[in-house]
Amino acid sequence: MSPTINRDRLLSEIQALASISEADPPVVTRIVFTPSDLKARTWMKACCEEAGLKVREDAIGNTFARWNGSDPAAPVVGTGSHIDAIPNAGKYDGVVGVLGGLEAIRALQQSGFRPKHSIELLIFTSEEPTRFGIGCLGSRLLSGTLSPDSARHLKDNDGATVDEVRRKAGFSGELDDVKLPGNYYKAFVELHIEQGPLLERQQTPLGIVTEIAAPASLRILIEGSGGHAGGVLMPDRRDALCAAAELILAIESAARNSGAIDTVATVGICDVFPGAVNSIPSRVRLSVDIRDTNLQRRDEVIRAIGATCDAIAATRQVSVHSKLLNADAPADCAPAIIEALSQSCRKHGLNFLPMVSRAYHDSLFMARIAPVAMLFIPCRNGYSHRPDEYASPEDIFRGTIVLAETLAALSA
Ligand SMILES: [Zn+2]
Repeated sequence: MSPTINRDRLLSEIQALASISEADPPVVTRIVFTPSDLKARTWMKACCEEAGLKVREDAIGNTFARWNGSDPAAPVVGTGSHIDAIPNAGKYDGVVGVLGGLEAIRALQQSGFRPKHSIELLIFTSEEPTRFGIGCLGSRLLSGTLSPDSARHLKDNDGATVDEVRRKAGFSGELDDVKLPGNYYKAFVELHIEQGPLLERQQTPLGIVTEIAAPASLRILIEGSGGHAGGVLMPDRRDALCAAAELILAIESAARNSGAIDTVATVGICDVFPGAVNSIPSRVRLSVDIRDTNLQRRDEVIRAIGATCDAIAATRQVSVHSKLLNADAPADCAPAIIEALSQSCRKHGLNFLPMVSRAYHDSLFMARIAPVAMLFIPCRNGYSHRPDEYASPEDIFRGTIVLAETLAALSA
């Protein structure tokens, strides 16, 4: 069995999907449950059905396209990713894993291979947090990481709830039925662009992910006292922005001092009120993102930030309130899938890099209910989430062929 990728078909499908966008090329914008997302879903389902796959959708719109194995009751071998795209994005994030997954299945079909375990392509709903403020909505529900009740009431910027929006988009089933049973999967493999520069820098065509780092996010509100920038003298000030500045540097230090290169912390938002040149800042809101491959180490950083908040509140006479918005656990990838991926790489004489996924993916949540692993291909300059995101055809083909052979090995 040696599957052959139909290169022209795969590239033209990537192009075709990129053209279903809310923005002009080369920009791709495809927000969940907008007309462009729904059009892309319809197009994807037609491609899957044309390949003879049986398509089903759950109540949140996760789409499963199944190639039945000779033992249909045996646990499934899954692959897939997402097709939603943040505003002003490119055409490869998520899409390579979905269309590469579909092409891998078609290549196996044409090679004469017949799986024992069913092979299923999964297109996740809303990997990106753009609309509802939470990433991986579909996989969180599939894995039971997010309860249907919490999901139902999430709102978009127009105040519409997930429940209203999904029903309007035609997904009317029960959210309680989305969670998959623990024995559903034998394995789940996600092909994805790296979204970082390491593979390109080391001129290595493939990365095999061994661990997926997990994000935690905090929202911190600092309240001090405002006033006239000329009138209030320095000894009397309770400047919220000065307190925030001290805290931001302490957050940086907490991550740097964790003792591991895998600990990262970022303050990505700093809203200052009232934001006038001659007014002392009275209120500041910070958003903090903390990630690590090690749960204890990451949570230690969160505790250190909490202690610093208290200390700064006391010394600067301001109030500091910190709220933990989410704290997902990191995941280890499954040795058996890592081995299947490695074997295919070795067979083709392809170098690969064992690596950590520092961005999070649906696979992080699928790891709660399935053995998972991920396969990365390089992307130019590590650029992602921008219109000039680029993965070369050769890299996409290599990833797809290794994915196909891995699906075959796992489903035999
Ligand atoms: Zn992605």
